[in-house]
Amino acid sequence: MSDRDRAADVRVVIVGGGGTGSALLHDLTQRGFACRLFERGELTSGTTGRHHGQLHSGARYAVGDVEIARECAQEVAILRRIAADSIEMNYGLFLALSDDDEAYAETFVAACQAAGIAVRRVAVDEALRYEPRINPRARLAYLVPDGTIDAYRLPLQFLASAAAEGALAHPFCEVTGIRTKQGMVTGVSVFDYTKRREKSWPADIVINAAGPWAGRVAQTAGVDLPVTPAAGTMVAVRRRLCNMVVSHLHPPGDGDIIVPQRGLSIIGSTQWETDDPDGVVTPEGDIEWLRVRADELLPGFSDEPFHAAWTAVRPLAGRSAGGGRALSRGFTVVPPGRCGPGGFYSVVGGKATTLRAMAQAVADRVCDDLDLAIAGRTHATPLRPHRDYFRRNIA
Ligand SMILES: Cc1cc2nc3c(=O)[nH]c(=O)nc-3n(C[C@H](O)[C@H](O)[C@H](O)COP(=O)(O)OP(=O)(O)OC[C@H]3O[C@@H](n4cnc5c(N)ncnc54)[C@H](O)[C@@H]3O)c2cc1C
Repeated sequence: MSDRDRAADVRVVIVGGGGTGSALLHDLTQRGFACRLFERGELTSGTTGRHHGQLHSGARYAVGDVEIARECAQEVAILRRIAADSIEMNYGLFLALSDDDEAYAETFVAACQAAGIAVRRVAVDEALRYEPRINPRARLAYLVPDGTIDAYRLPLQFLASAAAEGALAHPFCEVTGIRTKQGMVTGVSVFDYTKRREKSWPADIVINAAGPWAGRVAQTAGVDLPVTPAAGTMVAVRRRLCNMVVSHLHPPGDGDIIVPQRGLSIIGSTQWETDDPDGVVTPEGDIEWLRVRADELLPGFSDEPFHAAWTAVRPLAGRSAGGGRALSRGFTVVPPGRCGPGGFYSVVGGKATTLRAMAQAVADRVCDDLDLAIAGRTHATPLRPHRDYFRRNIA
């Protein structure tokens, strides 16, 4: 029996239909596993459908963590090949606005270079030719290969590709329990909101990709998962003021990135820790504070018609007390451990930019544990168009 034939007998359930779960459905299905995905709401209705939309070149993280920066740079190159439809490769400008920022520039450039990120200093006059609305009093400007992700299309491309290979995603189906026997996963209990009834689904492996809710899902399996949900607010105005991502050149903090998304400009974000990802309310004070920060990068931002303010919750890997900025933006794959049932995996942390790499790491781990030599191919397989996902469902 070949390893692919053996994989076909392994039933995998993925919990969570955000970017991570969607990429995982594609990867494992492509390796031959029999996969289903359950999402309690609409697909991408968690953090994935609400994030800032920056395709991170890695420059933002280079000083703090060169490995994460390198991973972002590699993923940008891969996503450009496999998911060009979901990406606007518009590049980014980092602007120094103060003495402190100027002093930071040398460290920033060295770290970007160490991570393999193509960073180039440009004269402020040149930067103003690219982006006429940036602050003309900027002291320094650096060009990096940032971009913009379409938050919905990218996961739908993964889902469409998985569906084409026979995998199904079930929206509005909440996993309410992990079923076990003799310490091994045997399936999940699912509440189907469309039919208003509970059902059970068999599984040999359950993968918890529930983002900021991953801690709760793990609890149902008796696993204490180290994850810190960290909320952040963003504000959009109804005008595209820049075509590039515009960032403040300083150590990553609050309100220091403006991302163009379709006809909008979005400033983000703030950040605070929360115990309840469902109970987060956008603080009124965040909105004005972010508009002021945006004016520093793009003067006049706050004069544009207000479009929306919203808050999303980051699933940060690890535990922290103190805002979450100190926690890594990397991701962790938590394999079956001593306290949880065999066959139960979790993946936490990461970014929308690195969701494909997260999925690959989980799938590699599953294959290792089952002694299956099936290499991942998602890095080299162009994804299907996002529209195919719905076309297949209708057919
Ligand atoms: C303010 C903010 C800005 C960000 N900006 C960027 C950015 O510009 N670029 C970038 O790369 N990253 C960004 N991120 C990070 C990025 O959004 C997240 O890392 C990513 O979206 C997480 O995806 P996920 O699939 O892991 O989680 P989610 O998208 O949250 O998916 C988890 C899903 O699980 C579902 N679920 C939960 N419990 C259950 C259950 N019991 N049964 C079934 N389903 C369940 C949820 O409904 C949810 O849809 C940002 C994050 C925040 C908070």
